[in-house]
Amino acid sequence: MARWKIAVIVIASLLVLVILTIGILTVIVRTKPTEAPDRVSTGIHPTEEQVAAAVKYSRVLIIGVDGAGGYFGEMDTPNFDRVFENGSITYTGLSQKPTVSAENWTSMLHGVSYQTHCINNTVAATVPWMRSKYPSVFKAYSKLHKEAKFLSSTTWSPINYGIIENMSSMKKIYPKNSFPNDPTEQKLDAYNVDKTIEALGTMDPVITFVHLDSVDHAGHGSGYGSSEYVECMKKIDLLIGRLYDTYVEKGWADDTLFVLVSDHGHTLEGGHGGEEETVKNVTFAVAGAKGNIIKGTMGRFVTHDLASVVMYGLGEKQPDVWEGGVPENIFTTLQ
Ligand SMILES: [Zn+2]
Repeated sequence: MARWKIAVIVIASLLVLVILTIGILTVIVRTKPTEAPDRVSTGIHPTEEQVAAAVKYSRVLIIGVDGAGGYFGEMDTPNFDRVFENGSITYTGLSQKPTVSAENWTSMLHGVSYQTHCINNTVAATVPWMRSKYPSVFKAYSKLHKEAKFLSSTTWSPINYGIIENMSSMKKIYPKNSFPNDPTEQKLDAYNVDKTIEALGTMDPVITFVHLDSVDHAGHGSGYGSSEYVECMKKIDLLIGRLYDTYVEKGWADDTLFVLVSDHGHTLEGGHGGEEETVKNVTFAVAGAKGNIIKGTMGRFVTHDLASVVMYGLGEKQPDVWEGGVPENIFTTLQ
């Protein structure tokens, strides 16, 4: 066969391959999930006037406990209790549908439902965030405050890789990348908190996000409420205490809004993705020492309400494109 014919065949084959790859990637990224009407947010979208009347915090600490569902309400967690004893809490918040990690962490941080952002675990693990139309709470705040610094340390790396934007004002920690040996998830979570506290020694982030993953692993291995799951929750509670104490030691506690959230729970056998109560219910807790938090049970919370709570806590108006809002009965200034 003539050389030019071989060249034509090779080029044509490469073209087909490129077109097919782009097509498949487009389908993966653009696939529209089925509607989930029971996950609609009923939170408040604060107006300019309501934002102006807000009590502002200087910083927010978000602790994300993957796979914990509503289990904080089922067991003794002394550190969680001391952080949130005067806080606004729910143990029956709603996970996105399907009740999977990336679907929910994306919703929480970008303020929109899964039906809007369409990010699943595969996309988060393989494609860096590129939907600038839906800014994360970090990005939205940085547009208003160029000088603001952010910190995000995620035991499950796709959150930092495919869900949160890369910004020069944000320090991202990937605990798995720098852990010296082959770690268990519990060791990795403890290491994550070590690295977070180390970073807080040299920076004062407006928003710090710490994602812990070991409870989810215990859930997959042994099921919601199993002895392994409970033991793991106890260790997570100690890490919550360490993070909180760091803020106290630095003199930041009185001026920080503390937030804890879970993305989904597990079945009694282990696993998630379905609609069982122990899977779709999540913990969401908010506390702050400025006298503006309503102690008790908050109103309906859906995971894509988290970004709105953080933005309002910092005294800023949320982007119009966000679908979430601030649940009732969290802030005295917003009822
Ligand atoms: Zn998860």
